[in-house]
Amino acid sequence: MSYPPLHISFLGTGTSSGVPMIGCGCEVCTSTDPKDNRLRSSILVSSPATTLVVDTGPDFRQQMLREKVSKLDAVLFTHPHKDHLAGLDDIRAFNYWSKKPMEVYADPMTEEAVRRDFYYAFSEKKYPGIPEMNLHTIGPDPFMVGEIPVQPLKVWHLKMPVTAFRFGSITYVTDANRIEQSEKEKIRGSEVLVVNALRMEPHISHFTLDEAIALVRELEIPRAYFTHISHQLGKHADVERTLPEGMHLAYDGLSFSI
Ligand SMILES: [Zn+2]
Ligand SMILES: [Zn+2]
Ligand SMILES: [Zn+2]
Repeated sequence: MSYPPLHISFLGTGTSSGVPMIGCGCEVCTSTDPKDNRLRSSILVSSPATTLVVDTGPDFRQQMLREKVSKLDAVLFTHPHKDHLAGLDDIRAFNYWSKKPMEVYADPMTEEAVRRDFYYAFSEKKYPGIPEMNLHTIGPDPFMVGEIPVQPLKVWHLKMPVTAFRFGSITYVTDANRIEQSEKEKIRGSEVLVVNALRMEPHISHFTLDEAIALVRELEIPRAYFTHISHQLGKHADVERTLPEGMHLAYDGLSFSI
């Protein structure tokens, strides 16, 4: 399968609370380094003709404004946790400019949450100005978003299945602490892996930094970016200098082409 050139932008790289966390006075939350400010995790994937976003967390509006996104073709959801879903209402601006519903791709569990949390978008009597979307139910099969081929993958967030996505030679895995061998094989061969690395200490539903590094090594991925980062991981600059070659902490606003 041939892929168009892709541009990836990190819209947010923080865990569910964001960094700084409300009320926290730790050295990360009070850092003056902009790389220590992390909105909730999301990426923007664009090709010459198509632009999509993976997740719409609570910071979605701010992220669209910061990156000056004026056209968005689709939203792909990983799972229904609020830090990945809460900002969906703000697709209204894109509805307004494009005069079209947003194409939204989600697994059945996430689709159910979208219908529940944004019930007013699906009611019989719709009031004006509600978000408009076409929901597409996704499973394990690849699909196209405009000219971008998408391979969904299933990973585990404790007991919750989460959808990861491979776009050509880049794979994006957020909110996971376990990946079955069959799914690992679908990641293998990627040139870039983006994977969650919450903190140093073990966590029940996220990879630690060491676990994320081990995964990159196991799959022999030449370049990796870690995301969904907690303030507990430490300051960006301190952690970045400890990482093996080819591995980096992502930060908000980082982008690359592939
Ligand atoms: Zn999350
Ligand atoms: Zn803190
Ligand atoms: Zn989650």
